Amino acid sequence: MQVTRRKFFKICAGGMAGTSAAVLGFAPVNALAAPRAYKLLNTQEVRNTCTYCSVGCGMLLHSLGDTARNAKRKLFHIEGDPDHPVSRGALCPKGAGALDYVNSPNRLRYPEYRAPGSDKWVRLSWEEAYQRIAKLMKEDRDANFQEKNAAGVTVNRWLTTGMLAASAASNEAGLLTQKWARSLGMLALDNQARV
Ligand code: SF4
Repeated sequence: MQVTRRKFFKICAGGMAGTSAAVLGFAPVNALAAPRAYKLLNTQEVRNTCTYCSVGCGMLLHSLGDTARNAKRKLFHIEGDPDHPVSRGALCPKGAGALDYVNSPNRLRYPEYRAPGSDKWVRLSWEEAYQRIAKLMKEDRDANFQEKNAAGVTVNRWLTTGMLAASAASNEAGLLTQKWARSLGMLALDNQARV
């Protein structure tokens, strides 16, 4: 005989002991259900850094699906990394909600280019994007690099192109970025972490 949970408690309150009720077959179905398996069992865990701001909190990313050829991996859980020296397991609401933008159908996954005057974005390969950026930077630098200022003082500067670096870069990556940009004479360089 099956009864609802509410009815089960009514029966018990009416004077019948719960154990006796179970013996008589009045136990509700839910009470006999097996415990749920821990949801992070059998997931693949990857450590990463939150990309939202310059704090650079550590994350643990869990995905389902192994690396078999016919299995598609999907990220389904993100939490703070307790071993991370910066955040020690904490994430602010933006970082804790990162799962939504990682899986968003609107997420940009490849370079796109919109020609001047066009209203259409065209997909590029990463190689094409790198080539195009390098070509445009060289053309601009060749045309605008200044060795000396109006007073004849050596300045070796390039003021017509700037660079915005990633906020989640480590100190070492930030230092290399700074050195690379400065070696070209570039002065307009910024980073959310203020390298
Ligand atoms: S979790 Fe929040 S505080 Fe930490 S890096 Fe991401 S956005 Fe910044």
